[in-house]
Amino acid sequence: MRGLFIKTYGCQANVYDSERMRDVLAPLGYAPVEAPEAADLVILNTCHIREKATEKVFSELGRLKELKQATGGAMRIAVAGCVAQAEGEEIMRRQPAVDMVVGPQAYHRLPEMIARLSRQTGDALDVDFAAEEKFDALPTSRELSGPSAFLAVQEGCDKFCTFCVVPYTRGAEFSRSADAIMAEARELASKGAKEIVLIGQNVNAWHGAAPASQHGGGAWRLGDLIRCVARLGFARIRYTTSHPRDMGDDLIAAHADNPKLMPYLHLPVQSGSDTVLEAMNRQHTGDDYRRLVERIRKSRPDIAMTSDFIVGFPGESDTDFDATMQLVRDIGYATAFSFKYSKRPGTPASTMRKQVAEDVKAARLDALQKLLLSQQYAFDDSQIGKIMPVLFEKVAREEGQIMGRTPYLQPVHVKTDAALIGQVASVKIEKRTANSLHGVLA
Ligand code: SF4
Repeated sequence: MRGLFIKTYGCQANVYDSERMRDVLAPLGYAPVEAPEAADLVILNTCHIREKATEKVFSELGRLKELKQATGGAMRIAVAGCVAQAEGEEIMRRQPAVDMVVGPQAYHRLPEMIARLSRQTGDALDVDFAAEEKFDALPTSRELSGPSAFLAVQEGCDKFCTFCVVPYTRGAEFSRSADAIMAEARELASKGAKEIVLIGQNVNAWHGAAPASQHGGGAWRLGDLIRCVARLGFARIRYTTSHPRDMGDDLIAAHADNPKLMPYLHLPVQSGSDTVLEAMNRQHTGDDYRRLVERIRKSRPDIAMTSDFIVGFPGESDTDFDATMQLVRDIGYATAFSFKYSKRPGTPASTMRKQVAEDVKAARLDALQKLLLSQQYAFDDSQIGKIMPVLFEKVAREEGQIMGRTPYLQPVHVKTDAALIGQVASVKIEKRTANSLHGVLA
């Protein structure tokens, strides 16, 4: 066996891709190891979303270079993911210890690249954009890394929000066929996955023809796909990440009539100001979003809403920021992610005038995060005393405890037997700490 160490940065799409890289490399004898020191092949599966992403990758590569030298140069290093796509051969030019650079749509060709490398022929750079070809070429078998499994149904994005690199690093929107998705879902169910998370950069843009086996056929959207997946053996279904514009009636209805679909929706809004939303090219207003959430809550009243926010987008005034705070108060989030705007090379917003000063961004982020945290605590506190179904995922850090999640994705710690990992059990919630709920088996 050869050791494989994959370090994954960023979103669920990268987590999924890392698992699939492991599946692709397994026939070559590569098996996962816990640390790069034990690896014959190290892959950095990178993310380009956060600030200074490229620099962080290069400093990690500096550490790996030393490790490679210590192994006499035998260790192979590959850079994958969105930084690989964005930087291409510049990576190997700046850090010659790197053996391969492979984009998010080309990692199914890793075995080929490794073979070329050992023969010292051909190219060690592959940043092609053919998502369709990738999915067709991936192995049908899947190894589970826990009771919850990701399944990529869609990749890329055509929305071109002015701050975002995804349309450039992941390419145009591509929906996998319902037949291919159902085949992979059946494989995951047969391996014992309890929860399936349908993922995509713009997951609710998914569309396709109904599977051949379905009477009636026709064109399907994500709500139809969820109904079909729900017939398999999973206890829970989730999907992420959604765009407000693609939140169709079928999907909203699926929240009402499908108990396996968890009452949790990550629906990024980014800002509450119509001026900023327009500059971001989000294609909706703050009130469009409010009305949408109202419709979703009518369908599933207990749904936990979460979001992403960017503060200090170019041109954001105090009034614009106040509109964001008001939207947060109006919606009431269970949790949310918030960041200061930072420039992404090549995106339209990076060259916009009226960039906001760093201290102003920091003060706004602080105010927003305080408000979001107070909403999160209020939501978590509202569960105290309730009995909730918890899907146990893993052993917790504290001895004798295991960790699971409520339907609202809140982490819960319980002192009980690790044999419950992979099961859904009823838990009485007793208290909340800073980052988690705690309870006892009911
Ligand atoms: S919809 Fe999401 S992935 Fe697409 S460009 Fe906007 S932020 Fe990026």
